[in-house]
Amino acid sequence: MRILVTGGAGFIGSYLCERLLSQRYDVLCLDNFFTGSKDNIIHLMDNHRFELIRHDIIEPVLLEVDQIYNLACPASPIHYQYNPVKTTKTSIMGTINMLGLAKRVRARILQASTSEVYGDPKVNPQKEDYWGNVNCIGMRSCYDEGKRVAETLMMDYHRQNKVDIRIVRIFNTYGPRMALNDGRVVSNFIVQALKGEDITIYGDGRQTRSFCHVSDLVEGMIRMMNKDNFIGPVNLGNPDEYTILEFAKKIKGLTGTKSKIVFKSLPQDDPMQRRPDITLAKESLGWKPKVSVDKGLVETIEYFKKKILNLKT
Ligand code: NAD
Ligand code: UDP
Repeated sequence: MRILVTGGAGFIGSYLCERLLSQRYDVLCLDNFFTGSKDNIIHLMDNHRFELIRHDIIEPVLLEVDQIYNLACPASPIHYQYNPVKTTKTSIMGTINMLGLAKRVRARILQASTSEVYGDPKVNPQKEDYWGNVNCIGMRSCYDEGKRVAETLMMDYHRQNKVDIRIVRIFNTYGPRMALNDGRVVSNFIVQALKGEDITIYGDGRQTRSFCHVSDLVEGMIRMMNKDNFIGPVNLGNPDEYTILEFAKKIKGLTGTKSKIVFKSLPQDDPMQRRPDITLAKESLGWKPKVSVDKGLVETIEYFKKKILNLKT
């Protein structure tokens, strides 16, 4: 089988490419390198089953493939808000292009959707049948609404053109290979702690998030892609929920840093609570996360330690 991974040079995409190659599939990694990096996939370049294509998914592309994982889209708020019009184009035009490709070559396509489709949820934990609470004109809308339309497009291509689709809603995911300047909470707190800088909590730190290790997430995505007669959407995430203040204290404890915790202003529309209900993933895919947050964070801290040292030399 030949498998296309868009956004394959990004954080999650690079692990997905690696896992698919280890299962002896041919992998086409397509990326425009906006937030992705060749460093993430350099170790795959010698593999004769791996191909790299520099391309932007807002332009059509014709490739002969059997499966498409559509991950191309910046995921960190600072990156998706850098050029918000481009972010919306990536989710909408990019998804149309990938669905058009799937329709033409009869490939199965999996969309990397997000917990952000629930917006600032009024129910906790979030189940797949919750319609969400999203501001369509705020700073996060380019991402949230873009991903919501991407889900709409997936469902309509499925109903109208019988395209074979899968939708996963990914909750906050972390692990080695996150960029130092990624801007999301896990990398920010760890890098700040390791450098002895202030740990910056936005708001009062009472908002919650639940963190899933990238290896668990990739396992869930592959199970979903290869599950017959189930299109989703399905939540993939770790239900272990922390307030951001608890999380900052956890990073302080695990790194042993002397960094101070400081409070900054809360960005607009920052969701107050987020925790996946993963009953559907458990029942349909036999999937649940295996890596505890403590174990995953220790590994991620070691990765950032090396990364910071390398940068200095
Ligand atoms: P990332 O920014 O590391 O990866 C995204 C990749 O897509 C990068 O390699 C980037 O260069 C590429 N890309 C962006 N726009 C593109 C375009 N127009 N054409 C081609 N390539 C493009 O982010 P990530 O954390 O690996 O996220 C991957 C996917 O998972 C995204 O779709 C994201 O929305 C989704 N997701 C991630 C999380 C998370 O916590 N990491 C949570 C929910 C959803
Ligand atoms: N956050 C924080 N300090 C940081 C980065 C993020 O307090 O340096 C907060 C952010 O306001 C949010 C939570 O941590 O409430 C998760 O933010 P992230 O950008 O990682 O992901 P998302 O908001 O998309 O879930």
